[in-house]
Amino acid sequence: MTTIPRLPPLPGIRDMVKLYKVSAMKQLSQNFILNEKLTDKIVKKAGNLTGAEVLEVGPGPGGLTRSIIRQCPEKLIVIEKDRRFKPILQMLSDAYSTVNGKMDIIYGDIMRTNLTPLFSESFKKSWEDKMPRIFIIGNLPFNVSTPLIIQWLHSISERNGPWEFGRSRMTLTFQKEVAERLVAEPLDDQRCRLSVMAQAWTKPVLHFIIQGSAFVPKPDVDVGVVSFIPLANPRTKHEFKIFERVTRHIFSFRQKYSVRGIETLFPPECRKECGHMMYKLTDLNPQTRPMELSVEDIDKLVSAYKYLIEKHPEIGVYEYRASRKILKLSDTIKIDVAECSTL
Ligand code: SAM
Repeated sequence: MTTIPRLPPLPGIRDMVKLYKVSAMKQLSQNFILNEKLTDKIVKKAGNLTGAEVLEVGPGPGGLTRSIIRQCPEKLIVIEKDRRFKPILQMLSDAYSTVNGKMDIIYGDIMRTNLTPLFSESFKKSWEDKMPRIFIIGNLPFNVSTPLIIQWLHSISERNGPWEFGRSRMTLTFQKEVAERLVAEPLDDQRCRLSVMAQAWTKPVLHFIIQGSAFVPKPDVDVGVVSFIPLANPRTKHEFKIFERVTRHIFSFRQKYSVRGIETLFPPECRKECGHMMYKLTDLNPQTRPMELSVEDIDKLVSAYKYLIEKHPEIGVYEYRASRKILKLSDTIKIDVAECSTL
């Protein structure tokens, strides 16, 4: 059994926040968790961190960081945008080094940091192998969490960044409604583009909800803790961008039949015809609502879309939101159902 070394005594987080006068800044969506029982609970959901390499996003005053350190990872890397936390984070790093722990601090924007060099080659696993002992954890600011998870799902699909090392796990916080959307299954009210994108490449699990009152300052919303386990066999083989494009169009008319959103992938002059073709090619019912579609159904629609744009590249450049004046498309795009072979 691994014995967890004792850290030297540290001032409490609340005292540190007071001492260094690092009050929360609204512009950075800073809502701190100062209750260590709660941060321990979040970290427990991430998995067994002992001897692992861990990346923490936005450590702030270091509540979650302390809980991670208590699990004794081999290396902890923290990325924080706000330099006001420097003395606090340095104190934690120094304390961890007294028990031979390694904590690297990077001051920067998580969205712009190259994460690949942060992990050790020795932790690398092949994709199909067991998950590597690499963990990503963060109590993220709400304004960053959604674009960040989209960026990371893209990286997972291309197996780059932390996913060059195999199926690295993530445990992150989201505004409750976003957390519920991430895990929503077909027919759930919250089913949306984010659900499909997250579930195509990972298994997202919503562990628990934290009341807004647990944060300082209290945000207007509650927060969900979600883990993502990258799938050894993703539910689509398509590239992220095209899969995202088709999914986005499908959900652009959430309450209508899914064919309505699908049609907007195509220029007006061939919209009806191409929309109809997509369902012919996939054997799906055009009257299926977006929320009823499984990841596999959307995967089929992407295959159909790719088939059509390979045959007629001019429709692949069409942007629904861009003005028709900008795009000069051929007058009519003729597609013959009979010429479409099995996808
Ligand atoms: N982890 C701390 C906790 O749980 O109390 C702080 C959480 S607070 C919601 C989010 C933290 O992320 C803040 O410290 C904020 O400065 C930091 N942050 C905001 N945007 C960031 C970005 N783009 N990159 C890195 N850190 C960021």
